[in-house]
Amino acid sequence: MKTRSLGLLVFLMAALLAVADRVSAQADPPPLSLSLRRDWGYGGLDGRIQGRFTLRVKEESLFVRVVFYLDETEMAVLDEPPFAFRFHTGDYPPGEHRLWAQAFTAEGETVASEPIYAYFLTDEEGREATTRILIVVGGLSLVSTVLAGLMLVVLGRSEKSAGGSYGLLGGTICPHCGKPYAMHFYAPNLVTHRFDRCPHCGRWALVRRQPLDALRAAEGGAEDNPQAPASQETEEERLRRLLDESRYE
Ligand SMILES: [Zn+2]
Repeated sequence: MKTRSLGLLVFLMAALLAVADRVSAQADPPPLSLSLRRDWGYGGLDGRIQGRFTLRVKEESLFVRVVFYLDETEMAVLDEPPFAFRFHTGDYPPGEHRLWAQAFTAEGETVASEPIYAYFLTDEEGREATTRILIVVGGLSLVSTVLAGLMLVVLGRSEKSAGGSYGLLGGTICPHCGKPYAMHFYAPNLVTHRFDRCPHCGRWALVRRQPLDALRAAEGGAEDNPQAPASQETEEERLRRLLDESRYE
């Protein structure tokens, strides 16, 4: 008697576990997310599309077969990854469509994706829509080009009115002669410094961008300095000086 009721209990528990297993399996199907990617053509934000597109199921390792549907019609049956199907809207009737996929696991479970709704334009409608976009984009880029040009003019002016411009890279001060100059775009950029050539004394040095007030001070210093070379020395003196200085480099 005791063994029989124990056997019954074990059987019942096993049955319960099996049911629970089934329920949890049904409540928790593998995920299936479908994506629609435009390869070439028109794809508006309103779901109106025309051209070449790819339907794809991301969770490739979970399934052994994926069927892609257009409404209730099979578009493709794939038995191995990648579960991606390329199609052209022109191969299907134009109008509102429901794209979706059904996937099969190795255990024989099936799961359907959420549908993607798309309105297939005719090839001609797609061309017209693309042309409209090109006109808008072309107009916008023209406007932004003009605006950028205007801003450069305005900025350039304000910088000039602030007392001169040292160009896009900014100005620096030559460590040899102490004069300020605009850094050159061709000077090799060594992360924190540039290896640039001073246009005043002609020597190369590692320099970095200096603040405007430092440059102003250097300008003043250079102008006020009565011993500023170059202007007061003769050509022979200058050559001799250059020769002297080059010895130390
Ligand atoms: Zn210099």
